[in-house]
Amino acid sequence: MPPNPLMVPEPIAACARRLAEQEADPLAAFIYDLDALETHIQWLRSHLPDGVDLFYAIKANSEPAVLRTLAPWVDGFDVSSGGEIQKLIEHDITQPFIFSGPGKLDSDFRLALEARVEQIHLESHDEIQRLNTIAAETGRRQRVLIRVNPTLPDALSTKLAMAGQPTPFGLEERQLTDAVIQVDESEYLELCGFHVHAMSHQTDVYRHLGLLDSLLDKWPIWRALAEEPAKVTQLNLGGGMGVNYQGIDQFDWPTLCWHLARRLAWLPEPPRIRFEPGRFVTAHCGYYVMQIIDLKHNHGEDFAVCRGGTHHFRLPVAQGHSHPVVHLPQNACEGEARPLTVVGQLCTPKDVLARGVPMVNPQRGDLLVLPMAGAYGYNISHADFLCHPRPVQQFIRPGALRVNDTLALEAV
Ligand SMILES: *Cc1c(COP(=O)(O)O)cnc(C)c1O
Repeated sequence: MPPNPLMVPEPIAACARRLAEQEADPLAAFIYDLDALETHIQWLRSHLPDGVDLFYAIKANSEPAVLRTLAPWVDGFDVSSGGEIQKLIEHDITQPFIFSGPGKLDSDFRLALEARVEQIHLESHDEIQRLNTIAAETGRRQRVLIRVNPTLPDALSTKLAMAGQPTPFGLEERQLTDAVIQVDESEYLELCGFHVHAMSHQTDVYRHLGLLDSLLDKWPIWRALAEEPAKVTQLNLGGGMGVNYQGIDQFDWPTLCWHLARRLAWLPEPPRIRFEPGRFVTAHCGYYVMQIIDLKHNHGEDFAVCRGGTHHFRLPVAQGHSHPVVHLPQNACEGEARPLTVVGQLCTPKDVLARGVPMVNPQRGDLLVLPMAGAYGYNISHADFLCHPRPVQQFIRPGALRVNDTLALEAV
């Protein structure tokens, strides 16, 4: 289960203190707990019904240590660019991989084919045509899925919807007949199924189940479009399981798996299902640590100005939320908590990571820990802005965590 993010496990706090001692300047660092990541992926896997594959979308966090930790527990990796394929090759990650995403280059297709990609998800008529031409050069038939942007019930959308509305992703259902014919007529392509990654940030399992149910209802119709429906066996349902950054009511994965198992059991010819979550896999294992450089009072508000900022950890601004912060004081202190705004070193008023963070007697040099920073954290950030140095990235394996080894958050 995702840990309670309002606590910082003691090994993380100890690592943060050690790193801070080693640095001449105040610290900004990411710490990743690979044991927690491994426990979490094992937990995800343990609930997975028969007939369902688990892939990891590496764009959420493609650090080699993360990929190596996940590799034994996933059926493969989902990549979205030539650069991500290159990364798998460079780091000798040999698990199967699948390739999706808009705007694929011919050179991306060539690289994917060379690296023996398992399946490519095609997003447009043009991609179908280009991949067929490129696959012909290799003389091999390439297995493909067609990505669909289906019409969805309104009630199912989230704040980051990729489908059910105009987006650059996939083909509309009314274009599907033509797309299926086009693939069937492409000598070097073999249609295996359909792909829908409809949304990100779904924290409500019942809404997610509603989405999956509506796609399973469409499955026989889509499949019947193929010349040989018996060869169309795969339905990739994407990722999108959300993380509640306020730290409560996390996505109910066991319930999703339980309902899906029952639903598949009822279907006369169930497709092989594939999930490819990103955020829900790696968010919880990462922590961003900032050390307080300066404390200020300005126009009625208290500020903690910290090493680092949103150029390392853009997620809170990207999502428009105030991120939870755990204050690690240097000395135990008592007294009344006062709310602070936590900012970084950038010369922009947008460099805010959290507001109204209650802290008791905050001091210059104290460490602040921002949990749930393992997905779409450092890798979506504009790290070169203002020529600040890049943060330390530390990967640790602290062993099994004990309940007593946690420090309570002063509140969020
Ligand atoms: C980004 C992406 C994912 C992962 O999305 P999460 O919200 O991180 O689970 C899965 N599939 C595709 C095609 C994606 O682009």
